[in-house]
Amino acid sequence: MIKLENKKDCCGCAACFQVCPSHCITMEEDGEGFIYPKIDNDKCADCSMCEKVCPIINYSSHKENLKQLSAVVQHKNRKTLRESTSGGAFTAIAEYVIDRGGVVFGVEMNSEFYVQHTYVETKEELYKFRNSKYVQSDVGNTYHEAKKFLDSGRMVCYSGTPCQIEGLINYLGKRDYDKLILVDVVCRAVPSPGVWKRYADYANKKFDDLSKIRFRDKTLGYQYSTMEYTGKNGKISREGIESDPWLRMFFSGMIIRPSCSDCKFRGKDRRSDFTIWDCLNIYHIDKTLDETRGVTRVIIHTEKGKRIFDEINGNFEYRIIPVEAAVNGVKELSVSPGLNPRREEFYHDLYRMSMEALLNKYFPETFSVKFKKFARCTLNRLGLDVGIKHFFRKG
Ligand SMILES: Cc1cc2nc3c(=O)[nH]c(=O)nc-3n(C[C@H](O)[C@H](O)[C@H](O)COP(=O)(O)OP(=O)(O)OC[C@H]3O[C@@H](n4cnc5c(N)ncnc54)[C@H](O)[C@@H]3O)c2cc1C
Repeated sequence: MIKLENKKDCCGCAACFQVCPSHCITMEEDGEGFIYPKIDNDKCADCSMCEKVCPIINYSSHKENLKQLSAVVQHKNRKTLRESTSGGAFTAIAEYVIDRGGVVFGVEMNSEFYVQHTYVETKEELYKFRNSKYVQSDVGNTYHEAKKFLDSGRMVCYSGTPCQIEGLINYLGKRDYDKLILVDVVCRAVPSPGVWKRYADYANKKFDDLSKIRFRDKTLGYQYSTMEYTGKNGKISREGIESDPWLRMFFSGMIIRPSCSDCKFRGKDRRSDFTIWDCLNIYHIDKTLDETRGVTRVIIHTEKGKRIFDEINGNFEYRIIPVEAAVNGVKELSVSPGLNPRREEFYHDLYRMSMEALLNKYFPETFSVKFKKFARCTLNRLGLDVGIKHFFRKG
């Protein structure tokens, strides 16, 4: 039976909950708004299945002799590219699967702003998965559902954070399903779903009844991607990383999952078929791709992945690059972000203060924040922000 002594030892993938034959595990929210397994000892048969699937307990560094291939890609379809976080690599892989009668699992934000894993079977529904949701997703029963599709002979693509993909592989008990395609993202950390719920309620009131929230809108350019809030009246508000409260909470380490601060699944060697992530410095890698619209970096880890890439690369403008060039300078691949030193105090206040008061206390709109926002918007309007980034970013 899993005994959780340190919160850093649970990534919340819910593999244990899904595998338990006695159904004695529930996933319950803690005071920081993250889910952890809770075991009903009276029902537990002590079969240890939960321990066998846990990606943290069973972590091994998987340093097989991988013959990886790496590319930077930009989807040719402008709508797909605009809706995607980066270069739309995920959509091209997902379309390949759907064209072959397969099922695609990914993360959607539903109409209640709840972030969860689900699956789709048509290309028209893939929009739900485009654009990163910077909140830990609820995996629910999707490992179980993916296995059912695989057992029935369907092709399955499952996308998620590296820990979720490890949880799925352990749940399945093997990696080498012919028809399973795994896509993981490079992941800085995942923010708290419980804090997100409170924040989304606050934003809903602040922006007058929201119809949509996007975490990475590119209207002001890929280099200045912003959180976008769309009201039911059609009014749109956008805030960049320097001023948006959610992004500030995320990047300050205040609301990230404790296990992310000691993540075992970073690194470029993975058990997925594809690892995808941003390429904000494409200018320093290849000057011929349009850097304002978004580019995805891709590492292809398996022969299956390479075969798929050969079939889908007609959808992209792409360049094959050395793996070393793809990972060069990518901190998220090697360094876990720290937890904010004021975190305990923040969570103490979370359920005692309104969200507005909480933000005013921990993330006030100081003169410096207003100035950074003004400077960034002005440079963006004048078309100077990209050039300045080239100057300061070394490569
Ligand atoms: C929580 C999180 C943190 C990230 N951190 C970094 C980072 O530090 N540096 C970096 O370069 N890139 C990071 N990424 C990856 C990046 O945001 C893009 O996902 C990547 O560039 C692929 O873009 P795309 O245009 O090819 O795909 P898109 O079309 O944008 O597809 C997004 C994919 O991500 C999945 N996804 C969306 N939200 C979640 C979620 N909450 N949990 C799990 N999967 C999700 C979708 O199912 C889909 O497969 C992060 C992504 C997430 C979800």
